[in-house]
Amino acid sequence: MKRRQILQLAITSAAGLAFSPRLFAQDAPVQPLADDLFLIKIPGEANVVAQTTKDGVVLVDGASAAGADALMKAVAGLPGGAPVATLINTHWHPEQTGSNDLVGKAGKTILAQENTRLWLTTDVTYPWNGKTFKRLPKTAQPNKTFYTTGQLESGARYAYLPDCAHTDGDMYVQFQKQNVLVVGDVMCGEGWPVVDYATGGWIGGQVGALQRLQPLVDAGTRIVPARGPILTQADLKSQLQMYASLYQKLTTALNRGKSPGEAVADKPAKEFEAKMGNADEYIRRSFESLWGYLSPDA
Ligand SMILES: [Zn+2]
Repeated sequence: MKRRQILQLAITSAAGLAFSPRLFAQDAPVQPLADDLFLIKIPGEANVVAQTTKDGVVLVDGASAAGADALMKAVAGLPGGAPVATLINTHWHPEQTGSNDLVGKAGKTILAQENTRLWLTTDVTYPWNGKTFKRLPKTAQPNKTFYTTGQLESGARYAYLPDCAHTDGDMYVQFQKQNVLVVGDVMCGEGWPVVDYATGGWIGGQVGALQRLQPLVDAGTRIVPARGPILTQADLKSQLQMYASLYQKLTTALNRGKSPGEAVADKPAKEFEAKMGNADEYIRRSFESLWGYLSPDA
């Protein structure tokens, strides 16, 4: 082959590849989970799960305010897509509640555990970096709340996770027929999770919540975390073992009177760092999260 022919071939192959349906599917922000259930991954945003129903779309989490328009565009493009009827907030964080304003103004349902609503009615400041999150306007606050469990007309069940793995308003949404479990930030699919102890999260709660999720999953369950790829029962098992081991090490360090700096310097998560990344910030935050739950004067 002459150089020009090779070049020509390279160009046509590249063009062919770019338009192959497989690559399109990988790049597309929408991944089907079932006929009526979709995972929407807007670049830079937390995962969103959308269920299409005859009464409109049910969204589990709504991206950040910056991603809200892109999310609504993706929702409108779903097969059988319709306006959003219900938006569920798995917890109060801005990465999950950025569409509340749009959905609330449209007069639709915003569903959350009552503690999540309460956090969205007040300003929250993180003690570890001084960052403040402003309360949401009334129209953007959840307008339907629950305490323990509930069910949507679409068949989806939801329940409070009272262990406080991530915040004290954590919940899951279970699509039983489709065998999909959406867990928000209670599980993390990429790297170490955030332990938001400013609003109740703690490492003991991570262990408790993962134990509580175990009976809900089988080998075929797709677990959708707020961040990262879809997780499996095996991931749930290994994460539970990891957090239980770290919880034990950190409570021991606390009982020995160690400081957060000393707990981090002990490198208790060393064996997991090759897979999970540097754990220093996670360990510091997890250790500090014990103060609220285990300190004698708590
Ligand atoms: Zn979060």
